[in-house]
Amino acid sequence: MSTVSTVNGGISFWYAHEGTPAPREPLPGDTTADVCIVGGGYTGLWTAYYLKKAVPFLNITVLEAKFCGYGASGRNGGWLYNGIAGRDRYAKLHGHDAAVRLQKAVNDTVGEVIRTAGEENIDADIHHGGVLEVAHTPSQLARLKDFHSVEIAFGETDRVLRGARETAERIRVSGAVGSSWTPHGARLHPAKLVKGLADTVEALGVTIHESTPVTEIKPKHAVTPYGTVRAPYVLRCTEGFTAGLKGQKRTWLPMNSSMIVTEPLPKSLWDTIGWDGRETLGDMAHAYMYAQRTADDRIALGGRGVPYRYGSATDNDGRTQPATVEALRDLLVRFFPTTAGTRIDHAWSGVLGVPRDWCATVTLDRSTGLGWAGGYVGSGVATANLAARTLRDLIQQDSGQAGPTDLTNLPWVNHKVRRWEPEPLRWLGVHALYAAYRTADRRESTSPRLGTDRLAKAADRIAGRH
Ligand SMILES: Cc1cc2nc3c(=O)[nH]c(=O)nc-3n(C[C@H](O)[C@H](O)[C@H](O)COP(=O)(O)OP(=O)(O)OC[C@H]3O[C@@H](n4cnc5c(N)ncnc54)[C@H](O)[C@@H]3O)c2cc1C
Repeated sequence: MSTVSTVNGGISFWYAHEGTPAPREPLPGDTTADVCIVGGGYTGLWTAYYLKKAVPFLNITVLEAKFCGYGASGRNGGWLYNGIAGRDRYAKLHGHDAAVRLQKAVNDTVGEVIRTAGEENIDADIHHGGVLEVAHTPSQLARLKDFHSVEIAFGETDRVLRGARETAERIRVSGAVGSSWTPHGARLHPAKLVKGLADTVEALGVTIHESTPVTEIKPKHAVTPYGTVRAPYVLRCTEGFTAGLKGQKRTWLPMNSSMIVTEPLPKSLWDTIGWDGRETLGDMAHAYMYAQRTADDRIALGGRGVPYRYGSATDNDGRTQPATVEALRDLLVRFFPTTAGTRIDHAWSGVLGVPRDWCATVTLDRSTGLGWAGGYVGSGVATANLAARTLRDLIQQDSGQAGPTDLTNLPWVNHKVRRWEPEPLRWLGVHALYAAYRTADRRESTSPRLGTDRLAKAADRIAGRH
């Protein structure tokens, strides 16, 4: 297999495939709006969508630093699924039933995205095949079984545990000893969804200004080099890029995730792999992988790579480290040995937002009109839609147009968390964490012992994940 001809960067394969959208005009000068949304990814655009649908006369302006979908929304693995960062912590803080309500809301969100994309004629190659997570080692299998039971306890009674043979009947992952499958997941083309959303909200009358970086958000103001937007509500929807805003350096850590995509695989190769159900595919490693079979029959596969850049820096238009491309290629061949001669067409990376307690949040500060949503860690494709509907309800409640709703009462609303440590502690901590996870994965792969490696457990505790 060769990576010599692999395109590295260029935002993502999804844009190379789909084409980057025609640019929209930057902000021409000072102006006003009822709601100003900073960031044109899934969070910002879904929020604009639901607000405009609820109150058609609202004057909504979206300010986007580059172009809509430039961030994780145009680069992700295309898992539209029911994972939500922080659910278990919310169960500890607010009780099991509250966390079950949150989980149910995310489960329902998968259907909400599929339904709304259909209603708005957004063709994002969505295939509702569920999520299959596989185990490779005795430790991973023990973790998989625990995970499976916990998900059932949180109300996912339609989840299915499969042994090695049944797993291979779905996808022939080399060495897989078992899997857990949930129907609450779908595969999609990330850039097609975000492009479709931007076009849809614009057609509804939302104003979008691109190439307009916001330098500072303060109550009722979004400040840019071209002028200031004054609005009673200013919503920060900048996820992994949040550290670039004045005063937000230590709010959410920009964690890297990198992906590769193969050339389209011939039928003869698919016959060796299976994957006819087009489930999204993941594993139970601590430094986990995620993959999908694309609509044009490629494998797109992602994983951690270099986890974090010093000083909360972000990548250069999606370029990733050559060593990460090689590591992901090795992972692909480990999973599917028959892909050993397959060309890797594209590699890229992006950033996701990680709060200090690894819990996604949605907040509206009623005293200032400032709102934000994010910190989804690696599970934002569905969660951003739930966050957007929640921001809509919070704004309607605050402006006296509606009362509290099922969404405004969910336990992730208005959650507060401390900031990340200053550098160099932040860099040292995250790199030590992922070194520990990689060592734990290596030790588990050669150990007959059941159960999670002590190093990974310690890393989880120190990181504040559990
Ligand atoms: C490689 C990768 C794979 C992933 N895979 C999955 C997956 O399969 N499933 C899943 O659920 N999640 C996945 N995620 C996470 C998911 O993609 C994100 O959680 C989600 O897209 C976040 O959407 P967002 O709108 O909040 O942020 P983003 O999509 O990052 O959008 C933020 C936007 O804000 C803009 N912006 C930033 N700063 C400013 C500023 N100062 N002024 C104006 N605009 C600004 C950016 O240009 C960007 O367009 C993945 C993430 C990555 C990076």
